[in-house]
Amino acid sequence: MSDMAVTRETFDQVMVPNYAPAQSIPVRGLGARVWDQQGKEFIDFAGGIAVNCLGHCHPALVSALKEQGEKLWHLSNVWTNEPALRLASKLVDATFAERVYFCNSGAEANEAALKLARRYAIEHFGPEKTQIIAFQQGFHGRTFFTVTVGGQAAYSEGFGPKPADIDHVPYNDLEALKAIMSSRTCAVVMEPLQGEGGIISPDADFVKAVRALCDQHQALLVFDEVQTGVGRTGALYAYMETGVTPDILTSAKALGGGFPIGAMLTRADIAASLKPGTHGSTYGGNPLACAVAEAAFDTVNTPEVLTGVKEREGWFCEALAKINEQHHCFQEIRGKGLLLGCVLNEQFQGRAKDFLAAASEEGLMVLIAGANVVRFAPSLVISEEEVRQGLARFERAVARVVNG
Ligand SMILES: *Cc1c(COP(=O)(O)O)cnc(C)c1O
Repeated sequence: MSDMAVTRETFDQVMVPNYAPAQSIPVRGLGARVWDQQGKEFIDFAGGIAVNCLGHCHPALVSALKEQGEKLWHLSNVWTNEPALRLASKLVDATFAERVYFCNSGAEANEAALKLARRYAIEHFGPEKTQIIAFQQGFHGRTFFTVTVGGQAAYSEGFGPKPADIDHVPYNDLEALKAIMSSRTCAVVMEPLQGEGGIISPDADFVKAVRALCDQHQALLVFDEVQTGVGRTGALYAYMETGVTPDILTSAKALGGGFPIGAMLTRADIAASLKPGTHGSTYGGNPLACAVAEAAFDTVNTPEVLTGVKEREGWFCEALAKINEQHHCFQEIRGKGLLLGCVLNEQFQGRAKDFLAAASEEGLMVLIAGANVVRFAPSLVISEEEVRQGLARFERAVARVVNG
């Protein structure tokens, strides 16, 4: 089986058509570089959608995977295991959290957060306190509960009756939030920087005001840090630079550096509402995932790497501004750390996909965030040389699109 030839055509023959992957099939990666079946080289500014925080095949992760792979892979939650306990201890030491729940993805971490928020509110304040408020354009995953909490109705429609009592208001619109909150509000769920929605930062006072409203109405504040967490913005978690502490925080993507894992972090008094039997996951906290995540966490949570993110943000922003001076296609370059977005101006509305395709032709992997934003989420330890080369390729891609 392993020598069976597969091509992009195989995808259309055997895969459910919910994705439309690129034509080339990557087969190998090292650091910030990837090679496809034909040996074509790409510089990776996509990072597996903000997942590969240490690039491809980072030695610390490879060695953790190999070591644990020869020891113990899986037990289920009938037994606990050392890597899970170590990783949870490190997350507790490094954040506001006192308790950790492990799962396998961002959606599952948010699913756990939402279920916990509902149980906590019902237990402490009665059965009426179930309203969940989230923000338009927000993204929280694809399970039916999380996709309904997400702020793009198109993603949750067509599947029949939705989970109930979920409301949306515009991001950064404090008055709209105020108007809809009451003693019935169970939780407010937000990304501390909207990723999929278009790389949108909260206004400086907005996050603090949301926190104050949650306190006023005894509602939990849930930060979805699935995309912003584990160094992406230059802080270990983005909340650390907002002056606000959430009640529940979710983490995934970069947490495993490419190995699937998710986590929900919270305080002990809130965690108490998930008693034995109330929630669970067969794979959640599996030793292999936790061993890799522990190595990723140890590597990222250092002053060198976190300061390095801010330094790299500078390299990107400077070069992107120059590209824009030359080609005049961005209305704004925004975001934080190594989660950056080039917002296309009037002339290029709806054409982010064309920039992605042109970049791919030039040997560069980038992302989009909606139809009008080209997004970068590279390795947090990408070298200056790789950034320079990647941006040179991006300049050529931009020239292609601009010159038709
Ligand atoms: C990617 C993402 C998710 C979903 O994570 P999955 O691992 O795909 O389930 C949830 N929230 C945010 C903010 C994300 O960026």
